[in-house]
Amino acid sequence: MIKLARPYIPEKAIEKAAEVLRSGNLVQGKYVKEFENSICNYLKIKNAVVVSSGTAALHLSLLALGIKRGDEVIVPAFTFPATANVVELVGAKPVFVDINLSDFCIDTAKIEEKITSKTKAIIPVHEFGQSAKLDDIMNIAQKYNLKIIEDAACALGAEFEHQKVGTFGELGCFSFHPRKAITTGEGGVIVTNNDKLAEKLKILRNHGISYKDGKVDFVEAGLNYRMTDFQAVLGIEQLLEIDNIIEQRIKIANLYNEKLSSIDKIKIPHNFKNRKAVYQTYHILVNDVINRDNLIMKLKENGIETNLGAQALPCLTYYKNKYNLKERDFPNAVKAYKQGLTLPMGDHINNENINVITEKLIIDY
Ligand SMILES: *Cc1c(COP(=O)(O)O)cnc(C)c1O
Repeated sequence: MIKLARPYIPEKAIEKAAEVLRSGNLVQGKYVKEFENSICNYLKIKNAVVVSSGTAALHLSLLALGIKRGDEVIVPAFTFPATANVVELVGAKPVFVDINLSDFCIDTAKIEEKITSKTKAIIPVHEFGQSAKLDDIMNIAQKYNLKIIEDAACALGAEFEHQKVGTFGELGCFSFHPRKAITTGEGGVIVTNNDKLAEKLKILRNHGISYKDGKVDFVEAGLNYRMTDFQAVLGIEQLLEIDNIIEQRIKIANLYNEKLSSIDKIKIPHNFKNRKAVYQTYHILVNDVINRDNLIMKLKENGIETNLGAQALPCLTYYKNKYNLKERDFPNAVKAYKQGLTLPMGDHINNENINVITEKLIIDY
């Protein structure tokens, strides 16, 4: 079976993790600090707060900004559900905006019509490792005085106009789940140039503990969203190789593009001049005449693992029922949900695999 994804963990990282395990110092410590410093250097940002998952990063971001019951937060209609779940979890209301089919990110032309006096923030998602249209998003944020929390969970290293995504908004969130380019098993990080917010995030991830004059005090109702030190060393070692990891992904995407660009029933990812995509996922749209779910099954019978790309949140039971959402209001999200297909991507994929995958894909639809 050609797997959809496979985590890449260098031997050196495994050795280092074993060393930490033998040392007995397991929970958040010096390696978490070191990982945070390397993330700051890589993204050119002042603060990084490493946490236990991408979802924890998003949840803490909303808590740190004080978003609560009665508030509204704008989220794209097509994403991984965690983006909206965290809004629910702080008691606020997620307000869905349809996406573009060119970048599968929020359609910035449709944001303003959803802004009300209750709107406090926008969570743009850089879907599949492609930057959302951040110039529009930052303009809207400024015009309406809204906070931007970038869900860059699958976009470490992606750029908009030569600046890394995750560094545009008040807060940027990343995930280190095994499906992402670098992984700590479970893990995530929040980055920000705002020192006060970083301080608050650190307190919230650690039970609300604040150390003042060497004394422990509990100043918030915090959580335990810490990362362990043996996870952090995995992150440190992989981050050293991030440029190669991204380069290899772009190469694979380009090979897929070459093979598929002339197939009229398939829409390959759009290439934007002012954005750098990192292809956390290589995602195509297949024509309406193709039954995508059957295609996934047929490819599986041929030893190729593929999947749908992300969920249309207004189609999911929880959101559909709670907010009485109609599919017709989110046509692009629904189309991507029903006709989107992700192809195998990662360091386990070679040229021969790409030939087999694209040939089968073309024969089987
Ligand atoms: C993976 C992902 C998340 C969740 O990250 P976890 O580390 O799995 O909690 C959230 N949003 C998006 C867009 C993702 O791709």
